[in-house]
Amino acid sequence: MFELSQDHEDFRMVVRDFAEKEVAPNIAKWDAAAYFPTDLVPKMGDLGLFGLVVPEEYGGAGDAGDFTSLCVAIEELGRVDQSIGITLSAGVGLGINPILTYGTEEQKQRFLPDLVSGRALAGFGLTEPEAGSDAGATRTKAVRDGDEWVVNGAKAFITNSGTDITSVVTVTARTGTNEDGSAQLSAIMVPAGTPGFVVEPAYHKLGWHVSDTHGLTFEDCRVPADHLLGAEGEGFKQFLKTLDDGRIAISALAVGCAQACLELATDYARTRTAFGRPIGVNQGVSFQLADLAVMVEGARLLTYKAAWLKDELHAGKRSVKEVKHAAAIAKLYSTEAAVTATRIATQVFGGNGFMEEYPVARFYRDAKILEIGEGTSEVQRMLIARGLGLPA
Ligand SMILES: Cc1cc2nc3c(=O)[nH]c(=O)nc-3n(C[C@H](O)[C@H](O)[C@H](O)COP(=O)(O)OP(=O)(O)OC[C@H]3O[C@@H](n4cnc5c(N)ncnc54)[C@H](O)[C@@H]3O)c2cc1C
Repeated sequence: MFELSQDHEDFRMVVRDFAEKEVAPNIAKWDAAAYFPTDLVPKMGDLGLFGLVVPEEYGGAGDAGDFTSLCVAIEELGRVDQSIGITLSAGVGLGINPILTYGTEEQKQRFLPDLVSGRALAGFGLTEPEAGSDAGATRTKAVRDGDEWVVNGAKAFITNSGTDITSVVTVTARTGTNEDGSAQLSAIMVPAGTPGFVVEPAYHKLGWHVSDTHGLTFEDCRVPADHLLGAEGEGFKQFLKTLDDGRIAISALAVGCAQACLELATDYARTRTAFGRPIGVNQGVSFQLADLAVMVEGARLLTYKAAWLKDELHAGKRSVKEVKHAAAIAKLYSTEAAVTATRIATQVFGGNGFMEEYPVARFYRDAKILEIGEGTSEVQRMLIARGLGLPA
């Protein structure tokens, strides 16, 4: 596969047009104010962005969409702004995906139509103050009391969890202990507004200012027993699979970031003059841009190979192991390439690159989290090494 289909490329131009008209003119203002643009979400829904991997009966694209299209959309939003890209990526990968994959028909009917239309957003609460890379160390507890679950604990850094339109957060919680003494985890959906579900104030972040991120606290928070997502004790397996897909999406977001840096820095190197000639004449500059072009190409190929494998898996033609390995490789390479890309682009812009009027400054701040969220670079290396057959 060396090129995307014409349908994918046509769709890319639709999303690019949307990002340039709806996001680009406003993003500096939103970023400076750390403002979450709630009104943009239903517009993204109208474009079909939240429904690309969702069957038609819940308002999605059905066979007309696929995971590759979702990656195209995330890349194109991410090329204009990373916060908007992650809002889509997390909205689908962490919000919709677990409900779609593990939910009962009733749960899907209740939550998915609003999430797909962009009238609502959902979050996925896995990380805790004491459990990030080692998510098995989860301390949040859910105890069954009659026909309810009582949830107690805290989650950290949860995307899309505190917007005005957040309808539900799926949280992982200990519901027992396995035979080997490890925590038995289950996933439980906690609707926004449930008494005892406290959304903490938004974090003050280095980047992703426009993305919504909160800590969450659960204090004797009671939800009906039928809010369990999938079978009791399956939470660990569920989130591992959820993160595999999410990693490909983050890789697409990183491609958007690196692509933006390549375009911005190349234009600047053509027009900015020093010593009486464009700075791009100097190999000290042009070779960096050549390296950047190689990184963008490599990141894009790895991302879309992983997305294609994911679509093939959906069609029953590939194994979970293949997708997991490809997702970790793509995420590791693309996110590290994006961070390097922002460093090169900022350097090419000189002092202007340090000024907020220039988008490269925002990309520079935004890129770092790509190497951390949905599994750090170290975790990706652990997964890739395990895929090579090395002992865990
Ligand atoms: C803006 C933002 C949005 C987020 N959104 C969400 C979300 O929606 N839902 C959610 O559940 N989480 C979310 N997260 C959390 C994110 O996934 C975690 O921060 C990430 O997984 C790392 O966990 P940690 O922060 O606890 O770091 P730690 O696990 O404490 O790791 C600290 C450092 O130690 C390294 N390390 C740890 N163990 C090893 C090891 N065995 N070998 C080598 N190195 C190791 C790590 O790679 C890292 O460099 C978000 C985070 C941020 C900042």
